Amino acid sequence: MIEKIVIANRGEIALRVLRACRELGIKTVAVHSDVDRDLKHVLLADETVCIGPAPSNESYLNIPALISAAEITDASAIHPGYGFLSENADFSERVEQSGFIFIGPKAETIRLMGDKVSAIAAMKEAGVPCVPGSDGPLTDDDNRNLELARQIGYPIIIKASGGGGGRGMREVHSEAHLLNAIALTKSEAKAAFANDMVYMEKFLEDPRHVEFQVLADQHGNAIHLGERDCSMQRRHQKVLEEAPAPGISDELRQKMGKICADACIRIGYRGAGTFEFLYQDGEFYFIEMNTRIQVEHPVTERVTDTDLVAEQIRIAAGEPLSLTQDDIKIRGHAIECRINAEDAKTFMPSPGTITHYHAPGGAGIRMDSHVYSGYRVPPNYDSLIGKLIVYGKTRDSAIARMRTALQEIGIEGIKTNVALQSDIINDTNFQQGGTNIHYLEKKLGL
Ligand code: ADP
Repeated sequence: MIEKIVIANRGEIALRVLRACRELGIKTVAVHSDVDRDLKHVLLADETVCIGPAPSNESYLNIPALISAAEITDASAIHPGYGFLSENADFSERVEQSGFIFIGPKAETIRLMGDKVSAIAAMKEAGVPCVPGSDGPLTDDDNRNLELARQIGYPIIIKASGGGGGRGMREVHSEAHLLNAIALTKSEAKAAFANDMVYMEKFLEDPRHVEFQVLADQHGNAIHLGERDCSMQRRHQKVLEEAPAPGISDELRQKMGKICADACIRIGYRGAGTFEFLYQDGEFYFIEMNTRIQVEHPVTERVTDTDLVAEQIRIAAGEPLSLTQDDIKIRGHAIECRINAEDAKTFMPSPGTITHYHAPGGAGIRMDSHVYSGYRVPPNYDSLIGKLIVYGKTRDSAIARMRTALQEIGIEGIKTNVALQSDIINDTNFQQGGTNIHYLEKKLGL
């Protein structure tokens, strides 16, 4: 087994990884920037290393500093969490070249799935259903591009192959705008991702975002742990997630889950991963794979009674999966609300000192958060300050519990989106289940 892990992240996910390590009897090294000395997991870790100043590119994205931290503490593995370097193939490669275990897939897999054009090609080959599209990068041949769009049928969407975080996409509703949209997306992609490769897809107008969780070991085994619905989004950012997805039959779940697990075996996947789909009119369309643990993993943990982070660590240590597909039973319903430090109206980040913090409690409540009374939220990073996860035997009981928990939560000194989450929970269309990815923005009048 791995003896000591460097947690190359911050905030709630760093704390989540620390907790998993402790349960497994693994020592922890918390790395942190100058302004993050007071993070909860830094206070709890066995060892700490300051890796640089506040800006992420000088600390949490500083590969040499992270590798040195592993060297000086004699750690054997690095857990990247989500965001930051978690999907950076060069990081994974350099970690392994330096003699440490990267808790995640091989660099070549991250590279394959990180480029959307190559990811879609690999998934098509593995039998995963994809959105009808250009099947490869767009060339400079205007006539060919016009013809492709005609064949696919408007509206279409131009997407950057190297895009991420909801950036690098442009909808096109008529032929008159196509060529201009391609040129614009290309130049933006070049500036933002240093890669001007773009491709074309049918724009689905009324989809839900449904994603499948997978686990694959280094011995050729892969399983799926069902799906999550993450359709409640603002600017392509998830706000609330739930498992299972409303209205998906167990038959469809098993069929799609098996396609994902089989695709993992085919590409030699290792670790935890997520296949993201758009789901419309009863059909799934692959959009991308995330080769890391996700923010919303706890809802899956709750309904499958598993510990995904512990599984990631065991897989990285070379152990075979401790679960078989038959062990995975979806029971009850779980919902996660992301709690952000942000203004309710403008959605601008709201850093500052939390003068008072009270976490909700009771049966079926889990609060994953690194904050505490007196903690100062720095302005330098993501505004996520916690995740409230509730469980109920039924979706209705999970909703009732979430409503109660949101009333109980106390965060003072900074602005949060707790009231927005209550609005969503009390929304009758949400309560019915199955709202699409545009629902929240329409509700907000955006
Ligand atoms: P990113 O890597 O930036 O998150 P994705 O490919 O996962 O990009 O897409 C992010 C979001 O963009 C999706 O959740 C969906 O809301 C929207 N989107 C992407 N592709 C399409 C499409 N073909 N039709 C409609 N919406 C899309």
